[in-house]
Amino acid sequence: MKVITKSQLPGQIKITEKEIPQLNKGEILIEVSHCAICGSDIHAVKHAKGYEFVREETTLGHEFSGKVIKVTDEQDQHLVNKNVYVESMHYCGKCENCLSGRTSICMNLQVIGLHYDGGMSEFVKVPRQFVKEINPALPIELAALMEPMAIAVHAVNRIDTLQPNQKVLVQGPGIIGFFTGLISAHKQADVLLSGLDSDYEHRLSKATKFGMKPLIANKEKLEGEVDVLFECSGSSAALKSGITSVKKGGKVVLVALYEEEMSLFLTELVRKEVPLLTSYGCDPVDYKEAEEILVHYQEPLKEVISLFPLLTAREAFAKSMEQDVLKAVLFNE
Ligand SMILES: [Zn+2]
Ligand SMILES: [Zn+2]
Repeated sequence: MKVITKSQLPGQIKITEKEIPQLNKGEILIEVSHCAICGSDIHAVKHAKGYEFVREETTLGHEFSGKVIKVTDEQDQHLVNKNVYVESMHYCGKCENCLSGRTSICMNLQVIGLHYDGGMSEFVKVPRQFVKEINPALPIELAALMEPMAIAVHAVNRIDTLQPNQKVLVQGPGIIGFFTGLISAHKQADVLLSGLDSDYEHRLSKATKFGMKPLIANKEKLEGEVDVLFECSGSSAALKSGITSVKKGGKVVLVALYEEEMSLFLTELVRKEVPLLTSYGCDPVDYKEAEEILVHYQEPLKEVISLFPLLTAREAFAKSMEQDVLKAVLFNE
């Protein structure tokens, strides 16, 4: 079967061959239908800081959907031939954080497609507890977006007090920022999605269809008026101006992963009593809300994804790196 891995050369992928995986007890074999390219796949391919652990031979891809071909446990027999998606963050279920339901910060966390073979492939094996049936109302190509949508749900739910008409600024119109804004707008917040001039054509221009207002960051400055800032850009300049935009008593949630160290003048946050929250990944409970949002917005969301056959993954990665597409999704023909 054909699979996609990173290459020795930073920024390049490899399209190579592997055997169809053999199942161990408790594993399920999935014939992959769709697999989205995530920012972390790109970080891995670019050999970015913090992604050194991704091995060259590991098949990439953690955002995927497909059909169950084979199971090993009698209790999973009902899943054969069913369409499924996969929870990407493989938690241990035994550590103190898992036991309190906070599996995204599991002490022994492994991510499929980064720590071991994932879904940029024709077939993939997955431990049974992470395989979930797709709601029949959700098209299989959009089910590949369950994980990024669940990550956005997790980020928005870090603010348990989000009220209708509150002013929300989301910085960074990548897919997580886009979805974080969409969910906030769905909860009737007044959402500004900000990015650069160069983000307008492929990203910001799509915001209005989902009830968000696009904002060009270097043209329009906000000061002390935002209730909640979701920082999804990963840029230190954006975080600094974002902090200025937040009102007294507002909140900041950091969702992006930062590739560099930065300096911040924290007195401004202290004087405004603004808590600095962080959000990482998602918990199983977040998928439920993610599914509702994907079903609800399925028509406009079809314009957010760009489909590429698996064997054209080089083009899909290049377009993703150039930010020519909002979300590239590979599929098996
Ligand atoms: Zn992802
Ligand atoms: Zn754990």
